[in-house]
Amino acid sequence: MKFNTRTIHGGQQDTDPTFGAVMPPIYQTSTYKQSTPGGHKGFQYSRTGNPTRAALERSLASIENGKYGLAFGSGLAAIDAVIKLLKSGDEIISTNDLYGGSYRLFTRIFEKMGIRFHFVSMENADGIEQYINENTKMIWVETPTNPMMNIIDIAAMARIAKEHQLLLAVDNTFATPYLQQPLELGADIVMHSATKYLGGHSDVVLGGLVVNDMELAEKLYFNQNASGAICGPQDSFLVLRGIKTLHLRMQRHCENGEAVARFLKDHPGVDKVYWPGFEDHPNHAIAKKQMKGFGGMVSFTTAEGTLESAHNFLENLKIFTLAESLGGVESLAGHPATMTHASIPKEERAKTGIVDSLIRLSVGIEDEEDLINDLKQALE
Ligand SMILES: *Cc1c(COP(=O)(O)O)cnc(C)c1O
Repeated sequence: MKFNTRTIHGGQQDTDPTFGAVMPPIYQTSTYKQSTPGGHKGFQYSRTGNPTRAALERSLASIENGKYGLAFGSGLAAIDAVIKLLKSGDEIISTNDLYGGSYRLFTRIFEKMGIRFHFVSMENADGIEQYINENTKMIWVETPTNPMMNIIDIAAMARIAKEHQLLLAVDNTFATPYLQQPLELGADIVMHSATKYLGGHSDVVLGGLVVNDMELAEKLYFNQNASGAICGPQDSFLVLRGIKTLHLRMQRHCENGEAVARFLKDHPGVDKVYWPGFEDHPNHAIAKKQMKGFGGMVSFTTAEGTLESAHNFLENLKIFTLAESLGGVESLAGHPATMTHASIPKEERAKTGIVDSLIRLSVGIEDEEDLINDLKQALE
């Protein structure tokens, strides 16, 4: 099956053997009748497994071209299950320009438990080798990075991970499997905040993992069941429904993203524009190599360069909504320094370029001209 068929049919054969419902039923149940003790039909208790969640987990695996999918109550719950593969004393090398919530989870929860993180720029893949020692267990990659839109070479990271027997985990939330498939590039674990593009309608919070290795899958299933951060059947259903149009939405996100990036680049009210599709973007070659398109995320700084100018712009938008999050059908605008990335200390933020005049756009799938006119009037 090709990708555009997998989004609709991947792992969805016979999801309702009883009545043949075309859409998987929402199995709103915590438990399942057994004929004799232990005599069940594959499900015993809904933390351990639920048929609606299982349908979503098969879909996640299918669209990432992987074998095993796992769904969680949020993207952060999925990351939590991954980091719990490690133990006190272990070390992780992580992308420095990282989703703020991931940074908070790593530094405020897991560092306290004795796991050590090195936050490093990964644009030069070989540069990370100096941080590898006998305690290093994992490389955590987010690409494109958030909000600076740097691109990390996943295949190069996979080579380093293999050489040193480390796990390579990739947060694929921004790109989605429509644009890049990290397992194909050699990653061991793909992570998603399905809250964003996979769900796609800003109506659900959910996370996912996909892996190929059976032993690794078993360890993650153990963590999912033992820690219990699962998603419910209703939310699983919503994400399954979202995934069915992922390819159509992503195509339009890419088109509108490009139009917005090019408009901003030419506007005198704008200083820098961060979008990996520009030929002069420092990682454009890698983006072209590993991604099918450049996505709908665009960041920029105002020409004035002040916090006030950024706030002014954001307050004057009419179609773009000022809100956290991204990846929905509607266009959103955010201010990383005071919103998504406020949990990262100012000095850390400055190192990666998250200045006070930086604005992040999640370009939706509305009419392109309406979006550009909205940006134009807010800049003026
Ligand atoms: C939103 C997001 C997360 C966290 O996911 P939640 O579903 O909000 O828990 C992780 N990584 C990236 C890149 C995100 O955008």
